[in-house]
Amino acid sequence: MEELLASRVRNLNVSGIRKIFNRAASIKDSINLSIGQPDFDVPDPVKEAAIRAIRDGFNRYTMTGGITELQEGIRRQVIDRCGVEPEHLFVTSGVSGGLLLAFMSLVDEGDEVLIPDPFFIVYKVLVEQFGGVPVFYNTYPDFRIREEELESKVTDRTRIIVVNSPQNPTGGCYSEDELKTVAAVASRHRLLVLSDEIYERFTYEGAASSMLRHHPDTVMLSGFTKSMGMPGWRIGYAAGPRAVVEKMETLQQFTFVCAPSPFQKACAETLDVDLDPIIESYRKKRDLVYEGLKDRYRMVKPEGAFYFFIEVPWEGKTGTEFVEAAIKRKLLLVPGGAFSTRDTHFRLSFAASDETLERGIEALNSMAVEGK
Ligand code: PMP
Repeated sequence: MEELLASRVRNLNVSGIRKIFNRAASIKDSINLSIGQPDFDVPDPVKEAAIRAIRDGFNRYTMTGGITELQEGIRRQVIDRCGVEPEHLFVTSGVSGGLLLAFMSLVDEGDEVLIPDPFFIVYKVLVEQFGGVPVFYNTYPDFRIREEELESKVTDRTRIIVVNSPQNPTGGCYSEDELKTVAAVASRHRLLVLSDEIYERFTYEGAASSMLRHHPDTVMLSGFTKSMGMPGWRIGYAAGPRAVVEKMETLQQFTFVCAPSPFQKACAETLDVDLDPIIESYRKKRDLVYEGLKDRYRMVKPEGAFYFFIEVPWEGKTGTEFVEAAIKRKLLLVPGGAFSTRDTHFRLSFAASDETLERGIEALNSMAVEGK
């Protein structure tokens, strides 16, 4: 049957993160710090709103771009956070839905897309699926954007710069100056910026700025899957220049049709739910892990999201080798190679209970002491 597959998917493999996810299922009482989703559940008022919507029969298709109340609520949030009114926005099926529609709308065969290294794997996979060429700009060792590095990767085939802040897998948050640097390079070469801001609510050193504020030719993607503890509900949005974002919406008509109706309704009714206590508890988790590991591991303290990207402490060993050794201690992490052109780090997600984090810290410290 394999010969019937399109060539573009023939070499497509299960992601490195999923592989760990699948293995977790077979390990009893594992210490799972591999998961990229919140450990808290949807706030009660939001759940109630969704149940009410389903009971009230709000189960049909909505308009392609989502219900008006939700669009308007999101518009207010975006203006508030980004300081500009986007020309156009619509509701997507999670940020993943937005990413698919964006790359599908923007990438032609041979187009080059600049992606930060390390990166969220979906960018690379989707660019390749549409015949584009992912070109990585290096942000190691501190995961910052440097103008010279970014500029050196631009060619006459470059179309898009991808930025992701707060970032998966590093927890890094770009400063206003870094965003201005991206805007300067993009303007100089007339490039579009695709800005994945899904972790915007998870910041621990002041609010995260938006690329939209600095570069009008930005398609900004964000959503509620992480911030409201609803990864399974699939509600996100795309905002930016009309010409691009409207075309993405048209493509949605022929693909996702619309984001799930009752969940749109629930989000529209509860957009102002107070998430501060959750963010505060995540700041504490970050500090717990940082304090617990900083004497034995080299890492950059994350300013956002819920990840640490930590250097493998064993001389000459890869992230994959380190993660294999961790699995023997029931500790689940993701090798850096799943997010990068190099395999020198591992990702630790602190979206876990404090008890799990304590067990993880203990296991990691004994690994650092005992060595390979
Ligand atoms: N972007 C980044 C950087 C992510 O980490 C994730 C989820 N892991 C997504 C997008 C996808 O989010 P969603 O669940 O809204 O599709």
